[in-house]
Amino acid sequence: MTELLGHDHVKQHLARIAVAQSPAHAYLFLGPAAVGKYGVARWFVQSLLCTGEARPCGVCKSCRTLADANHPDLQVLQPLDGKTTIAVEQVRTAISFFNTRPYAGAFKALIIRDGRHLGTEAQNALLKTLEEPPPFGLILMLAEREEDVLETILSRCQTVRFGLLSDTEILPLIAARELPPLEAFLLKHRYGGRIGALTAALAETETGSATRTEAFLGWARQFAEAPHGRLRYLAGMGLSEYEPARALLADWIAYLKVLNALRDASAAPPDLPDSLPRLMRALSVRDNMRLTADLLQLQSELKPGMNYLLQVEQALLSFPMIEV
Ligand SMILES: [Zn+2]
Repeated sequence: MTELLGHDHVKQHLARIAVAQSPAHAYLFLGPAAVGKYGVARWFVQSLLCTGEARPCGVCKSCRTLADANHPDLQVLQPLDGKTTIAVEQVRTAISFFNTRPYAGAFKALIIRDGRHLGTEAQNALLKTLEEPPPFGLILMLAEREEDVLETILSRCQTVRFGLLSDTEILPLIAARELPPLEAFLLKHRYGGRIGALTAALAETETGSATRTEAFLGWARQFAEAPHGRLRYLAGMGLSEYEPARALLADWIAYLKVLNALRDASAAPPDLPDSLPRLMRALSVRDNMRLTADLLQLQSELKPGMNYLLQVEQALLSFPMIEV
């Protein structure tokens, strides 16, 4: 199961807790998006509820029902289809699930997939349960940043930190696909140690090969465009939602990183078009750093409902114009 690659240190720590059957009432799994926090959270719950010898055994009744995603002692809280936040009503339902005795095992677990999806009212509804948890209760809150979680909740959770996976863990997955060299290079730099996002992107390459390369080269061509050409490029993205805008900024930040990586000519993939090294040389390290800092700033300020299209347009127009 690729979702469970890496995080050996964290898994060893959680495995000891599972063997001792002595979890804390609440954990905050803190770390970058798509590094496998959710996979580890499910694995931890499975280990706690497993009735086999080597936890998780994968064959006992509890392990099998958990793999089918319908274990009666586990609930996962995430926004309903088409929503960006978890409704307070969902939290209330989850709390009443949480407060009744376990159906099969010794614990009842609630996984909150992303603390960012809980508004203040929803977090406050959860707080009372955290203050007086039932003895069998276990809450696993996943979040990218501490700021995504109310301080009153933070103080009641044990924090478990997740980092990016290393190149050694990631690269064999990419190499196994035998992709064109530039596509492989882009995947490494776009997703790095974010195993969840990388696995999803690798699955996409099965269906629509080399689209990532085209997207990157299309973006690179913008440097030679006057403002109206750049706006036409952005209009072609069909950006009308918040999540695509957020993903687009993440792509641009990664592309700038790729341009920097290409300064080391020995690392350049052999199928790189000639225009790219020229662009990379013309865009100074200082320019690259400034653009990256601006985009990171914009990414942290981007909120659903704000006029993100205007903000993204301004960011694109601030790119220097470079003839390539
Ligand atoms: Zn088992």
